[in-house]
Amino acid sequence: MNDRMAVVMDEETVYAFADDTEVTEGRTLLADGAVIEAESEPRDICGLVRDGSGAACGVWVRVVGRELTAECDGSCNPASGRLCRHAVALSLHAVERGMSWQAVPVDDTRRTPGEALDALTAGGKAAVLDRLLDARPELFAEADQLAVHVLAPPARAELTALQEKTAS
Ligand SMILES: [Zn+2]
Repeated sequence: MNDRMAVVMDEETVYAFADDTEVTEGRTLLADGAVIEAESEPRDICGLVRDGSGAACGVWVRVVGRELTAECDGSCNPASGRLCRHAVALSLHAVERGMSWQAVPVDDTRRTPGEALDALTAGGKAAVLDRLLDARPELFAEADQLAVHVLAPPARAELTALQEKTAS
């Protein structure tokens, strides 16, 4: 089972995570065209929502497990598990556009890049290294050293075995 599936988000779900006042104000913002930018990121929907005063707030809405959570750099400071009016406007905008939402498994939110790397197989690590070198060719001179760091000893043995198999 893959718990990182795209979630179908609907208005009901958005309303369930916001107070009536925020829902009303969020709908007004949306109707006024206050959502000036919205993007579906791998882990959240992010966007810019203009406030009444004209200033724009950076807003992120994310599905964690079965909950919606929002961050907003405006003065509204949404409580955990509650959406502020900007987050409501952005969420409804995303629902209207049929933007895809990725559910983030709860445990995964606290994973550091190092832990994520540890979870990769030797082949996966080699692929990461390949992509890194594609993007940063100047690192190539240090690639051997990098490989030593990235590929932990067991993974490295696994990879060597794999390469020997391919070579023979
Ligand atoms: Zn806000």
